[in-house]
Amino acid sequence: MGVTRDDWRRYSRPVLKTRRWQVLRQIVLERDGWACVDCGTRKGRLEIDHVKPVRSNPELAFDPANCAVRCSSCHASKTRKEVGWKPVFDTPEHRAWGKAVADLATNPNPAT
Ligand SMILES: [Zn+2]
Repeated sequence: MGVTRDDWRRYSRPVLKTRRWQVLRQIVLERDGWACVDCGTRKGRLEIDHVKPVRSNPELAFDPANCAVRCSSCHASKTRKEVGWKPVFDTPEHRAWGKAVADLATNPNPAT
């Protein structure tokens, strides 16, 4: 059993709604030249992909090295593969995950 795409968005939403993400997004777009890293297109809607999903690597949620520009089609096909992973909702791990992301969002310079 996998998770649905709606479940999947529950992981990215707390990250994507932050001000810190808006800043990071610009940095990654500039670095990758406003083009999809997979197919090279500059057309359409460019999205920022987490190379290692936030779901499994919350500590990398705001790490530019873990982000890449992908067009919506390349992003969707990558996400489809990841969505097959087993869900971890409503577990102590998931609650710890939420706290980790919240801490990162409010602390731009973690001591780690
Ligand atoms: Zn693409």
